[in-house]
Amino acid sequence: MGSSEFSWSVSRHDAFARCRRRYFYSYYAANEDPEIQRLKKLSALPMWAGSVVHETIEAVLKTRDALPSPDEQEALIRAAVHGQMLTDWRESEAGSLRFRLFEHEYQVAVEPDDKKILVGTVMRSLRNFFKSPILGEAFAAGRVVIVDWKTGRGEGKFSEVQVAGYALYAAEQGWAAPEEIQTELAYLAIPRYVRRSIDRRKLDHLRSFVAKSAKNMRALLLDPLANLARREDFPMIDRPQACRRCNFRRLCFPRADEAAVAAASAPLPA
Ligand code: SF4
Repeated sequence: MGSSEFSWSVSRHDAFARCRRRYFYSYYAANEDPEIQRLKKLSALPMWAGSVVHETIEAVLKTRDALPSPDEQEALIRAAVHGQMLTDWRESEAGSLRFRLFEHEYQVAVEPDDKKILVGTVMRSLRNFFKSPILGEAFAAGRVVIVDWKTGRGEGKFSEVQVAGYALYAAEQGWAAPEEIQTELAYLAIPRYVRRSIDRRKLDHLRSFVAKSAKNMRALLLDPLANLARREDFPMIDRPQACRRCNFRRLCFPRADEAAVAAASAPLPA
């Protein structure tokens, strides 16, 4: 199986590091098989919270040139929670192709408390976004600050690479010299803001990280020039914990999944 062009990304690196088979499904098989593409797009609850927050932030930055008033801010937050999240949830329950939760696909029970925590994370993150120092700076413009807004609490293994990658892109596009670029990891749910400066040395380091990672990925290809891959060259992992949370688990363990689904839908014993 192939995909027209090889392109590196942090999420690709992450998938490759976690499980070669998962990587194959995400970056090769999904391009040719609509069912695998559908599984690739499943969103687990924490990821969903992140997307809702990102979409709201994107809409604010694209459509406003000043900080919305407190009433408007609350209206935007309500629209995210009562509008978008409700629509997403209902579509997911109905088995939509546009949006489907991992938990619905694999019949993982979502307790009322889980939902409350999720809605709370989205609301708190958006409130903190409106209060964040960077937002005022963004409207005042001036220098280039690359911000990665996060709804999770911990620093991901590759967060720093991701945000430096955006900086590299900005530098190569000529938006600013590396020394004029700063990066910020904004943990909105806490809130905590980690700002760092960028220089040529960091960008060089990043370039070699990407080159090495891409080389490792291409080494498994049947035909690196044509970007052709074969499933048997991408082994599964032996880590049940990781597989339980993987979007592709029904492909790797078809029988186990059928059994789990049958158990979930069986009537309760009298
Ligand atoms: S279910 Fe496990 S082995 Fe299969 S792709 Fe996912 S992580 Fe890899």
